[in-house]
Amino acid sequence: MRILVTNDDGILSEALWLLVKELKHIAEVIVIAPDREQSAIGTAVTLRQTLRVQKVRSPLPEVETYSVEGTPSDAVILALGKLIKSKIDLVIAGINQGLNLGEDVHISGTVAAALQSFLRGFSALAISAPHENGEWLDAAAKVATLLATKVTADSRLNNTLFNVNMPELPLEKINGVKLTRLASESHINTVEEGDDGRRKYYWLVRQRAVTATNDSTDVWAVENGYISITPLHLDRPKRPPVLLFNRLCADLSLELKSLSNINQARR
Ligand code: MN
Repeated sequence: MRILVTNDDGILSEALWLLVKELKHIAEVIVIAPDREQSAIGTAVTLRQTLRVQKVRSPLPEVETYSVEGTPSDAVILALGKLIKSKIDLVIAGINQGLNLGEDVHISGTVAAALQSFLRGFSALAISAPHENGEWLDAAAKVATLLATKVTADSRLNNTLFNVNMPELPLEKINGVKLTRLASESHINTVEEGDDGRRKYYWLVRQRAVTATNDSTDVWAVENGYISITPLHLDRPKRPPVLLFNRLCADLSLELKSLSNINQARR
C-alpha cells in the first residue's frame, strides 16, 4: 500500500511525523506538505504565481519527502498531478493540531487537502486532534492507521472522503467511534476592534460553540469522548450505503478497544 501524507500545519509539524511513523507499519509513505503553517487557508490554490518544490531529507528513513512553497491544495495537486508517478491508494491530511468541526471544514486547509484528493478520484482522510500536545496525538495516529487499512480494503469505500476528529482523551479513555454529521452551529464568529495609536485594526475571532445538544453531530461526539467520523460529499450518485459507514465505525471501535486493552496490560 502507498499513502500520500500532507497537512496544513507545515512540513515541520511534529504531529505529521507522528502520523507518518505509525503509517509506516502498514504502507510506503510519501510526504508532500507546505513549507510553513497554512491553517485556515481553506481550498486556496495558487494560480497567479509559480510554485517551487524542494525534495527534502525526511526525519524518518525511506520516506520520500517534498516541501512546497504553497498551500495544502497546491501540495496535493502537485503531488497527484506531477510528482508522484506510482499508484497512490490513500491520501491522509493531518494530524492537524486543532479540531476541524462543523463549519470549519469550509476554511480548513487540512480538510481542503483531503478534498482535493477526493475530487481527483482518491480516497482521503482528514484527521484532527485537539490543539495541545497530548496522548490524543498517539491515539489519532493509531486511528488513522486502522482506518487506512479498512478504507483501502473495501472497494465499496473507493473515492470516499472522511473528516475525523479526536476527543481530548488518551486511547484508553475514548468511549468509541461515532458516525456523525457536521454541526451547523459549531462556532461563534466575532470581530474585535482596536486602535494601535495610528489606525484601527480588526481581529476575526472564532470560538467553538460551548455545547452541542444534537448527539448526531461531530461537536457532540468529541465533547462526549467519542472519535467523530464524518463522511463528506455524500451527494454523489454512487455513494456507499450508510450501513457500510456504521459498520466501519463499529469495527473501528472494537479494534481500538482491544488495542487499548493490550496497552493497559503492558503497563
Ligand atoms: Mn492546521
